[in-house]
Amino acid sequence: MTTSDYRKAFKQLKAKPEILEKYKKHNAPKQRTTGQYRVHCARCYRTQGFVRKYGLCLCRHCFREIASSLGFKKYN
Ligand SMILES: [Zn+2]
Repeated sequence: MTTSDYRKAFKQLKAKPEILEKYKKHNAPKQRTTGQYRVHCARCYRTQGFVRKYGLCLCRHCFREIASSLGFKKYN
């Protein structure tokens, strides 16, 4: 069983609850407390290019798209 997201297998394993519990125990992703994957964009869930300044919590791509609506002005 190969899946890109570990939760996709839940639908397949619904008929076998014991195997489902074992699967969750060994395949659930680790809860991170530090590092790059702790923070993510609130709009698109991207982890890279994260802008925390001014309490934005957006990635640089989303910030560029909605900056004018937030009141930011480009000076050039
Ligand atoms: Zn984003």
